[in-house]
Amino acid sequence: MPASPLFDLTGRLALVTGSSGGIGFAIAAGLADAGAHVILNGRDAARLDESAARLRDATPPGATRTILTRPFDVTDRLSVEAAISTIEAEDGPIRILVNNAGIQRRAPLDVFPPEDWAEIIRTNLDSVFFVGTAVARHMIPRGMGKIINIGSVQCELARPGIAPYTATKGAVKNLTRGMCADWARHGLQINAIGPGYFETPLNRALVADPDFNAWLTKRTPAGRWGKVEELQGAAVFLASDASSFVNGQTLYVDGGVLSVL
Ligand code: NDP
Repeated sequence: MPASPLFDLTGRLALVTGSSGGIGFAIAAGLADAGAHVILNGRDAARLDESAARLRDATPPGATRTILTRPFDVTDRLSVEAAISTIEAEDGPIRILVNNAGIQRRAPLDVFPPEDWAEIIRTNLDSVFFVGTAVARHMIPRGMGKIINIGSVQCELARPGIAPYTATKGAVKNLTRGMCADWARHGLQINAIGPGYFETPLNRALVADPDFNAWLTKRTPAGRWGKVEELQGAAVFLASDASSFVNGQTLYVDGGVLSVL
């Protein structure tokens, strides 16, 4: 249970996209630890069921939260609309949305395959618009709701070989501001989290690359990869009453990467 009622999410329903693994799963687990009912999402129903079982196994005896799964593809607008309607009708009002699903593709921009460009834009950016607006249309009449978009340190900085990813994350930061501009007056809070470098399947190649590890150890003031659990505090803060006057912001959780050259 959370130490302060400010961080208590008991009874609130949270949808976390792309939460079958990596950062999304850790954020879902953090929200559940703070008391939220959690809906896990991804495209692979079997993988989602395994993740939900892991989360239920970690639930302390007597805890009343529920862990649900709703597989859908965040890049498919009609599937998104249908899934959000079903969740609202069958699972309850969504109080917290985490737009986390995302992919990475690496290649120099001059040879970047156009189909990979389109897939990155669809998954990392269109999805935030599709899921964000589908959920906001339910939150607005209720006059409340928390939306957390997952950005990156690449909201601010580029690195060779990932220009399209960087473009989407910069756009997510500004879309977060735009959502705030349109929806704050309806009682919604829309913020973003910008993770630094975390060991997840998305970074599998980099985790195995000794040169990248040497670079990261030197470049990151913390001197190490982030652990996905280290994103839970920021997520619970932005999902809870503790952040009641925070809106349109991007909170970087990066071991200091953006603070030093
Ligand atoms: P993972 O590859 O570990 O997880 C990605 C998740 O997204 C999976 O659950 C995957 O499930 C899901 N997903 C992918 N495409 C879709 C889709 N079209 N519809 C629904 N779900 C989808 O990545 P991370 O956990 O590392 O990344 C999560 C987020 O964090 C991303 O937005 C990423 O950009 C961001 N981020 C990650 C950083 C890191 O260091 N790892 C740093 C900064 C930001 P499935 O494939 O089964 O659908």
